[in-house]
Amino acid sequence: MLAIKTEEEIELLRLNNDLVSKTLAEVAKIVRPGITTKELDHRAEEFIRDNGAKPGFLGYDGFPATLCVSVNDVVVHGIPSNRVLHEGDIVSVDCGTYMHGFYGDSAYTFEVGDVAPQVKRLLRVTRECLEHGVEAAVEGARIGDVSHAIQTHAESNGYSVVRELVGHGLGRDMHESPEVPNYGNKGRGPKLPAGLVICIEPMINLGTRYVYQDSDGWAVRTQDGKPSAHYELAVVVRNGKAETLSTFQYVEQVITKS
Ligand code: MG
Ligand code: MG
Repeated sequence: MLAIKTEEEIELLRLNNDLVSKTLAEVAKIVRPGITTKELDHRAEEFIRDNGAKPGFLGYDGFPATLCVSVNDVVVHGIPSNRVLHEGDIVSVDCGTYMHGFYGDSAYTFEVGDVAPQVKRLLRVTRECLEHGVEAAVEGARIGDVSHAIQTHAESNGYSVVRELVGHGLGRDMHESPEVPNYGNKGRGPKLPAGLVICIEPMINLGTRYVYQDSDGWAVRTQDGKPSAHYELAVVVRNGKAETLSTFQYVEQVITKS
């Protein structure tokens, strides 16, 4: 049985995920060529604390920062550093918050300056994969329906799906049951009950699906060195249509203005 959340718990998850969404927009304001990934991290930490929450990732399993900042061939779990962003890079920013006993967790992949058309297309398709996954996450469907929707859209566009990392349930723990893989078969896996809160987070590669662990013990990189994109939203499973708890609206307001 999967733990479903009460409406009161969902409200607290909504507060967290709204703050995560706004934090990603703060990061959006300063992403540009010449900035370091550590500077993005500092801005996010300050904003989260100013809003009465704690960074959800800092110290989680020993992770040393507020954000996972993953540039180009880094799929996820990049540690913020003195690495400088360059024109044409893509940077996945994954953010977590913790307040009122619950977590928020979402990610967005930003373009740094002018990005090559083939990489822009990877970002667009990965976003669409996430949208298809969210559409499939309705009461009575199965996890495999979500997984299958993501995988088929990625692969039919010529991309590959990372298998080693998956989406997850979200609540008082950052990673709860069930796992939400980005690959799988329709009609398989646990049935989704209304009130289940999950993070759907496709990690889609331009080239090979195979990845390896960087020597820093955290960053996960593509084996062929080609770029990988990552978007994540937290949603509540509902009858007929999932309700999103996080949003890219704030980020997009910033991006369209600049
Ligand atoms: Mg997550
Ligand atoms: Mg995340």
